[in-house]
Amino acid sequence: MNLTVLVDNNAGCYQNMMAEPGLSFLLENDYQKILFDCGYSDIFIKNAYKMGLDLTEVTEIVLSHGHDDHTAGLIKLDILYRKMLAAGISLTSKSIYAHPDVFELKLNAQKKNVGYPANAADLCDIFDLELTTSPVWLTPKLVFLGEIPILYKNDYRYSDESAVVYKASEGLVIMVGCSHIGLQNIIEYAKKVTKEERILALIGGVFLHDKTEYKIRELGIYLRGLNIKNFYPCHCCDLRSKIVLSEYVKIREVYSGFKLSFD
Ligand SMILES: [Zn+2]
Ligand SMILES: [Zn+2]
Repeated sequence: MNLTVLVDNNAGCYQNMMAEPGLSFLLENDYQKILFDCGYSDIFIKNAYKMGLDLTEVTEIVLSHGHDDHTAGLIKLDILYRKMLAAGISLTSKSIYAHPDVFELKLNAQKKNVGYPANAADLCDIFDLELTTSPVWLTPKLVFLGEIPILYKNDYRYSDESAVVYKASEGLVIMVGCSHIGLQNIIEYAKKVTKEERILALIGGVFLHDKTEYKIRELGIYLRGLNIKNFYPCHCCDLRSKIVLSEYVKIREVYSGFKLSFD
């Protein structure tokens, strides 16, 4: 499986890619193109185009959770697909996998909605909505986790956050959106669903900005115990958290256009 970061908060130094405070990955095998999150705007589409990646062939879209920095870009993709259909271009069928609460209002501290900013029902013209709390295997090796049980307490008020996990030959590759629900909860459930203990890589947003240093160190000790080979905290992971976590686990850089490959 090939993973390409279509958009991240970091534009990197190596390619002419754009960045925004959002996240989107494209996962590809020989048969499927799976989009994991859609960023905040149409930047993920523009970056994909620059890299020669054709998003019209996307077969499945997974939304990690409802926050607009992961879902608002879906509106732009919907517009693109509608224009193509209007121009007589046929499209492969496309499904959206997410938790049933993904499109519910998500209010921030100022009572502003930071969830999906449009009417989700409008998506049904183009996409099949597969909203479920159960794990779904999208390929024989890639699973959408559905609702994640809470073993470790966290402050996230919603239960819509999920993740996707690829079962590579050397261990799990866990892809996360923001990890509001707690990285420990996601990892423990990923291990349970896949019946695999080894973690080859973890990539995605790890939101720790509001956590005390003690809490970040607690996570660091947990991560060190897992012996994760490749740790790629990106998107919403702030510098302080990366510096603290780097005492426990080697931190690797991520940016728009960054690629990984797993067998
Ligand atoms: Zn979020
Ligand atoms: Zn986010």
